[in-house]
Amino acid sequence: MDRRKFIRNTMLGMIAVSSPISISAMDSATRALTGSKSLKLSFKPYELKLRHSFNLAKYSRTTTPDVLVQIEWDGIVGYGEASMPPYLGESIESVCKFLSNLDLAQFTDPFRLEEILQYVDSTAPNNRAAKASVDIAMHDLIGKIIGQPWYKIWGLSPEKAPNTSFTIGIDKADVVRKKVEEAAPYKVLKVKMGLDNDKELVEIIRSMTDRPLCVDANQGWSSKEKALEMCEWLADKNCLFVEQPMPKEMLDETAWLRERSPLPLIADEFLQRLPDVKRAYGAYDGINIKLMKSTGLHEAYQMVSIARALDMKLMVGCMTETSCAVSAAAQLAPLMNFADLDGNLLIANDCFDGMKIVDGKVTLTDLPGIGVKPL
Ligand code: MG
Repeated sequence: MDRRKFIRNTMLGMIAVSSPISISAMDSATRALTGSKSLKLSFKPYELKLRHSFNLAKYSRTTTPDVLVQIEWDGIVGYGEASMPPYLGESIESVCKFLSNLDLAQFTDPFRLEEILQYVDSTAPNNRAAKASVDIAMHDLIGKIIGQPWYKIWGLSPEKAPNTSFTIGIDKADVVRKKVEEAAPYKVLKVKMGLDNDKELVEIIRSMTDRPLCVDANQGWSSKEKALEMCEWLADKNCLFVEQPMPKEMLDETAWLRERSPLPLIADEFLQRLPDVKRAYGAYDGINIKLMKSTGLHEAYQMVSIARALDMKLMVGCMTETSCAVSAAAQLAPLMNFADLDGNLLIANDCFDGMKIVDGKVTLTDLPGIGVKPL
């Protein structure tokens, strides 16, 4: 089967498995793949099923709502994705509404990425995951047209990608032990904290392994004194950094903590888009960039440049996502001090093949674009 037929069949297959099947959807897909030179956007909801219930300081869940996106141009298809953990305020309904309102057919040149993404950003405020889904699909499309993955387009050396951490969530002692056993292939563990049994969780992990720990408090420590006590305690436990120790609103307290903490502080919930990098400077040592916050790769790459100029540490993270968005984020990995790209490993129904973790390390392929194939 030639490449064009393969792409056509794959896309029709995706529409066929989404329900309900509509003749008009099939017709529009067929029209879209007949070589039109304007951008064609299509999307469908997809519920991610989590391998373990996901327990954070503020809530827990077993699924994550998601929307899969395709942008087609001249018979070539780029894939994208919006993942919507509920605390970020987006939903399948809001993402589908946002995407339905876009008119990408007005664009005939996919290389005018800045112009296209500025239009997408201007159509409504917020909607960061929805905007990221378009950005990711555009990067996949452009990379496929050029025939190269984005890390190569950016001139990056793939061997510089760091190890990824593997997340051990807040849970009962026996479940934590099981998760640590599952995490055996990973060289760095990440611990979610912010509840009363924080120290107990670390003690269980330390009784099983001395691998380095990244700690994510998820805003769970409500006073600067408590946060400092925890940072000092963790400094003796082979801990690399503490992510979002206090609520994002407590910027002055975080700056106070940074002056005293023996461990670097990384901004996560505090930091969404480009202007937030400057705001984080002085209170945090580094930033955790996630595509669902940054509206995608285009702005994420700009955030990297600003953070480097400010001599801040860089981390790339993800939500629970398929290998589509995780592989897109992985294209940035060679620029990073730390990577937390395990979101695809936490779901049971991944529908893409992409970036792999080999011997604990983020490992990029030569596949063009964001480096994925639909399964
Ligand atoms: Mg975090």
